[in-house]
Formats: sequence, C-alpha cells, structure tokens
Amino acid sequence: MELLNIFIGGEWRQGCGELMHSYFPADGSVNASLHAAGLNDLEDAVARAERAWRDPAWRNSLPHQRARILSRVADIIEARLDELAERQTRDNGKPLAETRGLVMSAAGTARYYAAACELLEGELPTPRIVDVLTLSRYEPLGVVAAITPWNSPIASEMQKIAPAIAAGNAVILKPAEATPLMALVLAEIFEQAGLPAGLLSVLPGKGSVIGDALARHPKVRKISFTGGTTTGRHLAHVAAEKLIPTSLELGGKSPTIVLEDADIEQAARGICYGIFSSGGQACIAGARLFVHQSVYQPLMARLLELTQGLRLAHPLTPGTHIGPLISRSHRESVMNYVRLAQEEGGQVLCGGEIPADASLADGNWFQPTIITGLTNQARVCQEEIFGPVLVAMPFNDEQALLREANDSVFGLAAGIWTRDSGRALRLAEQLETGTVWINTYKVFSISTPFGGFKESGLGREKGIQGLKAWMQQKSIYLATGNGVNTWCD
Ligand code: NAD
Repeated sequence: MELLNIFIGGEWRQGCGELMHSYFPADGSVNASLHAAGLNDLEDAVARAERAWRDPAWRNSLPHQRARILSRVADIIEARLDELAERQTRDNGKPLAETRGLVMSAAGTARYYAAACELLEGELPTPRIVDVLTLSRYEPLGVVAAITPWNSPIASEMQKIAPAIAAGNAVILKPAEATPLMALVLAEIFEQAGLPAGLLSVLPGKGSVIGDALARHPKVRKISFTGGTTTGRHLAHVAAEKLIPTSLELGGKSPTIVLEDADIEQAARGICYGIFSSGGQACIAGARLFVHQSVYQPLMARLLELTQGLRLAHPLTPGTHIGPLISRSHRESVMNYVRLAQEEGGQVLCGGEIPADASLADGNWFQPTIITGLTNQARVCQEEIFGPVLVAMPFNDEQALLREANDSVFGLAAGIWTRDSGRALRLAEQLETGTVWINTYKVFSISTPFGGFKESGLGREKGIQGLKAWMQQKSIYLATGNGVNTWCD
C-alpha cells in the first residue's frame, strides 16, 4: 500500500493526524493512504506561509517572475496529462475523458493567471484636489486558505491556487477528505516549477477538524471555499467573526428551459450532457427541466432515447459516459431522493436503480434517472441531489415559467434552448442565476467570471476579477506642491 507524505511549507512528511485513504470508486480498492494533517502541521504551515509571503524576495517579485512559475506549472501539467487524468479518475471515479478535460483546464488556468498577473495594473484616479497625485495599487492579502470539494479536484484547486499565487499570497490548501491525491500532485508540480518553499502547503484531513481550524486561524486572511451551502454558511460566519473576505462557490439546482422553437436534437443532447455528465455530481448540473408543452413529447422522447444509450462502464475504459458515484453513502443518498420523488407522486421514466450489470457490482454506479409528474415545489426540485437525477416539467406560460425557474434558494446556473436569441437574452436577464447558457450547457471560459446568486455563493472566480479577489487595494496620496494641509497655519 502506497503511504503518501503531505506537503507542509516546502517539506514532504507524514501528517500528524489520523490515517486516511483514497478509494477508487469503481471497485473500492485503496489507491493510497496517508496520515491527515494535524493541528501541529497547521501551525507549521501557517508559520512557514507567513515567513514566505513576507520574504522580500517574494514580496518584491515582479509579476513576470510569478508568471514564469505558473507557466512552468502549466507545461508540467500538460506533459503529464495522461498520468494525471488517470490519477484523478482513480481518486473520484470520473470517466477519463472528463478528467482529461479537468487536467487541461487546470493547465489553462495556470497559463491565464500567468498572463493576467502581468497585465494587472494599479489605477491612477484623476485627483479631485489640487497639488496631490493619487494612486491605487493592489497588494496581496498574505496567508490565504483554499478549501475544495471532491467533484472536480485539480480544476477547482487550480482555480484558487493560480490567482492566489499570481497575486503574491501564500496558500494553504485543504482538499476534500475523499480526494486528497490531486492536491498533493499539485504541490509536487508547484515545487518542481520553482515556487519558493512555504508559499503552498496541502493539509488533507477532515473538514470539521483541520478545515475548520484552518479557517479560524488568526493569521489566515481569506477563506476561499467551494463546496456545499451548509459548510459555506458556516465558513461565512467564521469569516465574519474575523472580518476577513470570503469567496463561496456553493450548491445549485439549475433550471434548463426548452422553448417552443428550440432545435430539439441540440436541446436533448445538451440537456443529457448537462445533467448526466459527471454522474450529475456537478454544482451546475441542469437538474430541473422545463419544457414548453408544445414540444414536450418529442423532446422527452429523444431525451429518453439518449439517456438509455448512455454507457455506464469502468471510468478508465474509453467511451464511458457514466462512471461510479463518489461513495456508497452518496449513492444511498441519491437513491433515497428517487424514493422520495416516488412518495411525492413522481413517476420514474427511466433509471432509478442500481444497475444490474455484474461488472459494475463493486462500484458505486447509479442509473441515469428521469422523473416526471412533479411540480417545482417537490423536495427533489428544491434540494440538491448531486447525482444523475433529472426532474422534467412541462410549461405553457412564460411568466409562470420564470417564477418557477427562479423559485429556488439556489441561483448558480441556467440553460435556455431556443432559436430566438432576442427572447433568450430577455429571459436570461430575468433568471436569478450567476451563469446562463443559451443553446449550450456546461461550457466554461477561464476569462469569464463564475459564481452564484442567492445561496449558491458569494464572490466570483475566474477572469481578472478572480485575481483581484485575492488582493486588497491601497490608495496613496502624494503631495506634488505645498499648502494642502493648511489646518495649523
Ligand atoms: P462539503 O461542503 O461537504 O465539503 C467541501 C470541503 O469543505 C471539503 O474539503 C470538506 O472537508 C470541507 N469542510 C467540511 N466541513 C468543514 C468545516 N466545518 N470547516 C472547514 N471546512 C469544512 O462539500 P462536498 O460534499 O465536498 O462537495 C459537494 C458540494 O460542493 C455540492 O453542494 C456542490 O454543489 C458544491 N460545489 C460547488 C461548486 C461551485 O463552483 N459552486 C463546484 C463544485 C462543487
């Protein structure tokens, strides 16, 4: 059994916490084991981070010097694409095609923030007083915490580390309990790329123990969190007590809308991908489907056909659409939601069960499931299932549709399928979500801000804003003449 070290301020060593394991969700085998970070490791990581970000060599580093490290990180990731994708598939069970995409996205993020930090300029506001020059510059926050979930490790971790490092901070990363592997690989890659010791530490372990202690640590000056809304709310309280900024990327229950004039084939394919890719374990999964009554029958017929054609198979086998869910307990929770939907009067149009295929028996697979016959008030429409479960509902009236689509505590994303782009834009303006996709779904660009409305989050990642989010602004007034402070004349 491989026993991994953890990475504390430039040193690889055994964590002083409990023994934990990374399991392959396809068969339950152990990928690797490690000792979680303990409180002593946390203290050490913070002390080393504090020294590292204050070191004049780093504080005075020029953007292109930080950019060079990030570019090297991207080069190394691209060169190790196959191996990293396989490692991530073993860690969380996503099919290889998806993990390859996540690995490439991590490389792209590192490249983008290498370029962005070169381009970020301070501001020179036009002074409103004579004989004074004012300038406004961006400075790092110091030691910052990044806490991430298990569903897209390398990509969501890089979305925090790259801009935080580009901005000149020292980052302490707490990956999800279930998926510590990619965070440790990232530490190795940043070290190889020349990141000075102390600027990145990785503390695997329980959220309620090491994650909580990290967030509460008095020297930690920002909490950037991606995960569930309950944890996010808790961390927002912690941040409020400490009066530090927080960025929260939380849960979702995204609506997708099919209008009368939609291209049915395009919509059915996009909806199928939007909910069932990653086995529905995506914050942006299009879990509520609203279809105009006039196209409900053909759309649902095609969607059913596509869903029944999805290949549930080993995630390392090319061509697999759906791999196993992350764990047995998560599959149990998904299955309970399907039972609840039935109790609430829903009909299972397809799926709803553990697949009978004996070759999948050791893993945590669940069939892609479509439920009809419910209204948006059903619990399965209001709560995040985080699995391959779609609830489809017909609609007639656009205003009623908007009310229903917006009737959710979440506001992460939405999809609209129509040939009428003007109408799509008008609807997009009225949807209470941080992202709206029109005639596509689940596509991303690193330069485009991402984040949630309502209980789906606070703040934005990606884009230049995603870099400034790791900095604080300082205004400087410089007198260019005499006679500004005349008070004691
Ligand atoms: P989670 O909230 O259980 O855990 C996320 C991280 O927080 C883990 O590292 C966990 O160890 C840590 N954590 C848990 N309790 C903590 C505490 N008290 N203090 C500090 N850290 C703590 O979420 P999860 O089950 O890992 O991930 C699934 C959730 O993440 C879903 O709700 C999904 O929608 C959301 N998510 C959101 C986005 C987004 O960008 N909006 C992206 C991916 C996932």
